[in-house]
Amino acid sequence: MWRFSGRRGLCAVQRLSCGAHHKVWRGKSDQACERALQYKVGEKIHGFTVKQVTPVPELFLTAVKLNHDNTGARYLHLAREDKNNLFSVQFRTTPMDSTGVPHVLEHTVLCGSQKYPCRDPFFKMLNRSLSTFMNAFTASDYTMYPFSTQNPKDFQNLLSVYLDATFFPCLRELDFWQEGWRLEHENPSDPQSPLIFKGVVFNEMKGAFTDNERIFSQHLQNKLLPDHTYSVVSGGDPLCIPELTWEQLKEFHATHYHPSNARFFTYGSFPLEQHLKQIHDEALSKFQKMEPSTAVPAQQHWDKPREFHITCGPDSLATDASKQTTVSVSFLLPDITDTFEAFTLNLLSSLLISGPNSPFYKALIESGLGTDFSPDVGYNGYTREAYFNVGLQGIAEKDVKTVREIIDRTIEEVIEKGFEDDRIEALLHKIEIQMKHQSTSFGLALTSYIASCWNHDGDPVELLQMGNHLTKFRQCLKENPKFLQEKVEQYFKNNQHKMTLSMKPDDKYYEKQTQMETEKLAQKVNSLSQADKQQIYQKGLELRTQQSKPQDASCLPALKVSDIEPVMPFTNFDIALAAGDVPVQYCPQPTNGMVYFRAFSSLNTLPEELRPYVPLFCNVLTKLGCGILDYREQAQQIELKTGGMTVSPHVLPDDSQLDTYEQGVLFSSLCLERNLPDMMHLWSEIFNNPCFEEEEHFKVLVKMTAQELSNGIPDSGHLYASLRASKTLTPSGDLKETFSGMDQVRLMKRIAEMTDIKPILRKLPRIKKYLLNCDNMRCSVNATPQQMPQAEKEVENFLRNVGRSKKERKPVRPHIVEKPTHSGPRGSAHVSSSQIIRKLITDPTFKPCQMKTHFVLPFPVNYVGECVRTVPYADPDHASLKILARLMTAKFLHTEIREKGGAYGGGAKLSHSGIFTLYSYRDPNSIETLQSFGKAVDWAKSGKFTQQDIDEAKLSVFSAVDSPVAPSEKGMDHFLYGLSDEMKQAHREQLFAVSHDQLTSVSHKYLGIGKSTHSLAILGPENPKIAKDPSWIVR
Ligand SMILES: [Zn+2]
Repeated sequence: MWRFSGRRGLCAVQRLSCGAHHKVWRGKSDQACERALQYKVGEKIHGFTVKQVTPVPELFLTAVKLNHDNTGARYLHLAREDKNNLFSVQFRTTPMDSTGVPHVLEHTVLCGSQKYPCRDPFFKMLNRSLSTFMNAFTASDYTMYPFSTQNPKDFQNLLSVYLDATFFPCLRELDFWQEGWRLEHENPSDPQSPLIFKGVVFNEMKGAFTDNERIFSQHLQNKLLPDHTYSVVSGGDPLCIPELTWEQLKEFHATHYHPSNARFFTYGSFPLEQHLKQIHDEALSKFQKMEPSTAVPAQQHWDKPREFHITCGPDSLATDASKQTTVSVSFLLPDITDTFEAFTLNLLSSLLISGPNSPFYKALIESGLGTDFSPDVGYNGYTREAYFNVGLQGIAEKDVKTVREIIDRTIEEVIEKGFEDDRIEALLHKIEIQMKHQSTSFGLALTSYIASCWNHDGDPVELLQMGNHLTKFRQCLKENPKFLQEKVEQYFKNNQHKMTLSMKPDDKYYEKQTQMETEKLAQKVNSLSQADKQQIYQKGLELRTQQSKPQDASCLPALKVSDIEPVMPFTNFDIALAAGDVPVQYCPQPTNGMVYFRAFSSLNTLPEELRPYVPLFCNVLTKLGCGILDYREQAQQIELKTGGMTVSPHVLPDDSQLDTYEQGVLFSSLCLERNLPDMMHLWSEIFNNPCFEEEEHFKVLVKMTAQELSNGIPDSGHLYASLRASKTLTPSGDLKETFSGMDQVRLMKRIAEMTDIKPILRKLPRIKKYLLNCDNMRCSVNATPQQMPQAEKEVENFLRNVGRSKKERKPVRPHIVEKPTHSGPRGSAHVSSSQIIRKLITDPTFKPCQMKTHFVLPFPVNYVGECVRTVPYADPDHASLKILARLMTAKFLHTEIREKGGAYGGGAKLSHSGIFTLYSYRDPNSIETLQSFGKAVDWAKSGKFTQQDIDEAKLSVFSAVDSPVAPSEKGMDHFLYGLSDEMKQAHREQLFAVSHDQLTSVSHKYLGIGKSTHSLAILGPENPKIAKDPSWIVR
């Protein structure tokens, strides 16, 4: 994977949201932290020396810093009472060309190592472990290999594989061919077919640069930091990748993947000693110290601003070609290892750009000149020197100058006026929430948070001590009320290292790219001798033979099915009625003093013609003002009092009937305990007195949404393809496509381009009448047990305030099934007296049918989806199909679609709603991929897999089933889907019991042609074969 700096302007502080599973209630002792505090500076442990031991109470952890004596390898351990333990090793990789050498290396080291010489141990471990996360990625200046798991044995196994892969990889020539690039006959077995470029990274990067935002971000970094490694594409420029040689790859490994250039990180509750011993014994003891020459020098400051223009591909859904220009202005900031300055500038950046009260939002977004901020807006701290960037996308070319003037003027105004105190308070409140809100991947969040700073020899522990930074920040503000304004003056106004970058689409962009690729190819092919050609043909065959050989993974460590917990932990909750008859689910959890409130309201009475507008309604409901608050004041209150209030449409499948589903809208929110009354008051105002008058602001929100949806297609094309393919298979599939498929993307695009938006705005109060009342509602609260009585009172108040709709409304669809949820979990202290009754829609006349859709988009890669209607969750076959999907992915589709086909990814999955999906991601093929899907089904029917294969698929399925659940999410399966823990346990037992016979039987019963209804969709470039085939609908 290649991860290019920050996406969508997420800053580091925003990213860090506190995780961990406190098994203990707040206040109880924390063993892991206590134990870590016992280490003494200077203590020697397994070849390491302890350098520093620091408690970080604000994040509930103890940091232990060590150095490896013989190699100088650095080590940071964060002890925390969290079972989801994480390991990562990162190397400073600073390439000086765009051949993508660190990226190809990242892929190739995962293809086999000395101790684990089998092909692709990394992907194989996915099936032999209960990991909660496994990945590798290449950033601009480092490469990181992280994994996490809750099982100690698994941790040791994965650590062993990771250490061997990174320090002792085989780096075979064929691996380089497969993962990097190669010349190969289009059809490898036909020497007459043309030679073309193939390779996983080559295709991945071609796919990555179909994303215009990414093109912009890449150029921005390259041009703002032009002196060293940041001037090249670390992931690889598709036109430069074919310059990379196998020798260069091996050389890069020898000089960069050395302990003296490595930083090791561990996190969680497992003991440190064992990690140190294993890392020393299996890797570090085999090396001697060296001096890595990988440091990035400071960027030379410019003496005057610079300006650049670039081009990109046309917007995939463009209709208004005249408004597709992007422009931004960037400023170089200080070194990120100055952690307090970085903290301050990060906060300053949020004040400048986030939310409707920020100066740049007011000046740029509300100018109406563009659709949304330019990519990577705000503080970017992923390079040695950070930078700030601000601008607009979706503007007319002639407005570039105006946008630049607005940016300069806004900076002047901020220097003059400063920021309101309330906004600073809101931001500090947000940091408090982020430190308390628990995610399930805290270890991963931490390692990503410190990676860049540590990479340049900054102090990662200092970075984590946010409490100190906050205190110092408040102190600075107190001593100097102009503290922030002076920073703006220093870094923005008086900064000559300033760059303007503009980008506009070129209709011939992809054509030109293709032409350059063709020329590159011709140049390579023409220089080949007859002998070279013969060799290429032979190597192509050899690669294919290798890929088709039965694989022996027995050298790899593995967990067994018996290592999986037979019984899952049950969640306690209570259900009580509030305001007469509204069911409320109360789930006591160790939430660190946070309260999570949700409400679900049914859409059953909403007229059909309003349904496509529900996502838009949800999107703007908390953003247009309510009661006496205008939209700015409302945004301010939400930031000051809550951690967010969001609304989203949901289509929830039934567990026992495919043609039955529940439709509704989910209201979600979180806040600190002390702010619960304020948050519930805000909800009351939003329900009772939402404001739908601000036409101009509505327009702004619509444009931003449309732009975001359209920008998201290159990343989520496979999801859009499967949504479309399942549209005609079940009634809920049709509604899902309306809410979140390509239909919705296109609808939003049309609305965004309307000159008169009033008719759309007028639909919102109509939707409100059907939705914002407690006629068909249920609520849930997750909070500490101490907080529950207060929460009960607040929810009761809220529901009494909201009240009922005045007239009785009938459901629009005639067939409604009332279904009580299965509550009263086994092992709970007391069985709830109340129940949640869900009102589901059923369509007894529904007939599934096949549809094949091709969305023609100007991309050089395809996203292919094939969906099959199977059975719902409660059916025993559902468990078999779930295991089968994993089996087909690991044992067949991965080889066919990725290794042989050159796609970035592909596989099979079964959704909760009973739709079996085969898909590919960033795929050079389309029709051929559909044929591979067919072959995968034949393979499944033939039953050519072993008990070992089945056990591996089970492990892999269970690592997802048992992935940690945050305290805020506990009980949600019950609240939303009506699933009790008993039902989940029964399903668990079905998964354990799946046999070879069942797997072949469900393959025959559901997947064969003519058995169940199949449906297909492709997103991708024009395709002559499809165009000629009348069974396809081309859109
Ligand atoms: Zn990659």
